[in-house]
Amino acid sequence: MRKLSAHYIITGTGAVLVKGIITLSDDGTVVDIIDTKGELDEMANVEFYSGILIPGFVNAHCHLELSHLHTIFPEKTGLPGFLKNVVEHRNIEDERVIEAAQKADFEMWKNGIVAVGDISNTNTTFPLKSKSKIAYHTFIEALGFSPLRAEKAFAWAKYCFEEAQSLGLCVSAVPHAPYSISKELFGKIAEFAVIQQSILSMHNQESSDEDDLYLSGEGEIIRHLTENLALDLSFFKPSGKTALESVIDCLPKENKLLLVHNIRTGQKDIDLVAKTRSLNKTWFVLCPGSNLYIEDRLPDIELLRQNKLQICIGTDSLSSNHQLSMLAEMKTIQTNFPAIPLDEIVTWATSNGAEALEINDWAGTIEPGKKPGINLITSMDLQHLQLLPQSKVKRLI
Ligand SMILES: [Zn+2]
Repeated sequence: MRKLSAHYIITGTGAVLVKGIITLSDDGTVVDIIDTKGELDEMANVEFYSGILIPGFVNAHCHLELSHLHTIFPEKTGLPGFLKNVVEHRNIEDERVIEAAQKADFEMWKNGIVAVGDISNTNTTFPLKSKSKIAYHTFIEALGFSPLRAEKAFAWAKYCFEEAQSLGLCVSAVPHAPYSISKELFGKIAEFAVIQQSILSMHNQESSDEDDLYLSGEGEIIRHLTENLALDLSFFKPSGKTALESVIDCLPKENKLLLVHNIRTGQKDIDLVAKTRSLNKTWFVLCPGSNLYIEDRLPDIELLRQNKLQICIGTDSLSSNHQLSMLAEMKTIQTNFPAIPLDEIVTWATSNGAEALEINDWAGTIEPGKKPGINLITSMDLQHLQLLPQSKVKRLI
């Protein structure tokens, strides 16, 4: 048994306890949580820490497979520039991919991350993920804007799906983004997702170029598809609608859905999502570090809050971020949106991700019976309960 206490405990359920006590069994299961209401007398065997205790982080969006691209791509090129770089660097030996992914997996563990929603385009990192101390949900991401590729792209996704399943990984087959999936491929993914009742994830509104493609058939994404990928786009007719509007009906309503990035998401888009599917089955994932790296712009997070949307946080990959740290993402949010209370940001980084990834039976909140991992955040502004640039995370459990 261990008894932990600190200046504050943010439980992930919305509660903030002053000098509360968490009792944990030897295997890390929360046995009890006591609200001392700040009256912590000298108690035997209580480890008291300066700072706050929070549940282990749930990183809702990562690409472990791209970890070898750390520090390779220039910053602030915009999404089309980033996509061009990915295409140019896609042929790398598996050994290098695995070695970098292993380091990144350890980095996340050290940074207090207990679970990850991780995108895979190949099966390279599956053995590593199946043996990791981190719980992974693998999103096998299909790609193919040409309808001619639909069959092959889906067959590959299904092959990877089955291999991941055989290794005991939680897994879904998902679409990459509106600008990289044909209607035909969307149809196959949707049909499979309904049968599997799987969690879906899609990159959404990462740049305005996505809308240009569907609204007018012009712009930088179309240039990327024709010049970098050498696609014959004679089949493609712009829908005259936004990218999200053009594909939202391809995402089955009965499945859970993580929409990732949402940099350009406005009220009209939120209304469209609300009209099309249940917001209780929809999560909006923020990847602020990656957004600043690629697009140098952040989503309208206040607007997402005003609409009471379910928000999660992801690190995205090391190809578009300096580190895989949920605390770093939280600091970026707090610096740019100082009015958002820390306990709300903690909920996004822990329990909302756990619900989205269907692991809330053990992760996301400090509650009796769960085994969420416990992180200590130090070097905080404890008076105003705010993170500081020098704040650090230490995994205690
Ligand atoms: Zn991504």
